[in-house]
Amino acid sequence: MQQEKIDIIKSQIASADASNAEQLEAYRMQYISKKSVVGELFAEMRNVPNEEKKAYGQLINEVKILAEEKFQELIERVNSSQNQSKNQDIDLTLPPSNVSVGSVHPLTATRQRIIEIFERIGFNLSEGPEIEDDWHNFTALNFPENHPAREMQDTFFIEKGPDIALRTHTSSVQVRVMENQKPPIRTLSPGRVYRNEAISARAHCIFHQVEGLYVDENVGFSDLKNTLYHFAKEMFGKETKVRFRPSYFPFTEPSAEIDISCQLCGGAGCNVCKGTGWVEIGGSGMVDPNVLENCGIDSKKYTGFAFGMGIERIAMLKYQIKDLRLFTENDIRFLKQFKAMT
Ligand SMILES: [Zn+2]
Repeated sequence: MQQEKIDIIKSQIASADASNAEQLEAYRMQYISKKSVVGELFAEMRNVPNEEKKAYGQLINEVKILAEEKFQELIERVNSSQNQSKNQDIDLTLPPSNVSVGSVHPLTATRQRIIEIFERIGFNLSEGPEIEDDWHNFTALNFPENHPAREMQDTFFIEKGPDIALRTHTSSVQVRVMENQKPPIRTLSPGRVYRNEAISARAHCIFHQVEGLYVDENVGFSDLKNTLYHFAKEMFGKETKVRFRPSYFPFTEPSAEIDISCQLCGGAGCNVCKGTGWVEIGGSGMVDPNVLENCGIDSKKYTGFAFGMGIERIAMLKYQIKDLRLFTENDIRFLKQFKAMT
């Protein structure tokens, strides 16, 4: 009697099938769970006479193993049919979806181009901290305390007396290089700088500078001029003219502003150059002997020149950008325009 019942269940298990999760669950309920027909066979064990228990136990264990093996087989069958139908959903003839690739920020691109030009004529790169002490940002550079030039470079102070502040220029990096290296020194220091300025189309409290320094025996003003002529032509094109206007900086003597011929009107005069035909790109000069001595360099033996430029300023001139704030507003419509440069 029992044998017959077991044989029927065995043949049912052998012919069972499932093609989805629901049918799989139905099979589990019917043959695997405690309340399944197989479960019932186990429950009947208590009604089996003692002398037959062993043989009966072997029989129903076989059924149990059979039911479980079949269950595994059905799980695999359902999974593989699901994968197949997933693959069928892919239409290989469709055009690919658009992958949006970003672009290099115009300031990064400009910074890279400036570095490239100076590296090719032997300048190496140097970096320094954005939080500076008074010595490296002001005093070593010939800004005595209470000097009016400090007013022009008001910044954000982290501590007062002794002063710790956000650097106002990357000249502080040059001081660190001169303190730690012996001439010849030929170094370029790009980086972020800070000033206490109201934010407008032409000024910002955060901007980027790149400063250059060359210290060696017999470095003269002609070296400074030739280096910057070379830079202007590489950066803005062969036709670019350069002029130097006398100026004042505490750390250079003599000092000069660097102008280039206006890119927009070619020197004829327009709105951008305010009718003069010239636009300023930075400052420069021969390193003041005091600064060399402050940094432990013998000013009788060595001379040097230094220059500094705003990276925003260069980018604005090169790409005709009229508002400084665009660089930090993260407006995708603005940034997208520089995609061709990547
Ligand atoms: Zn112009």
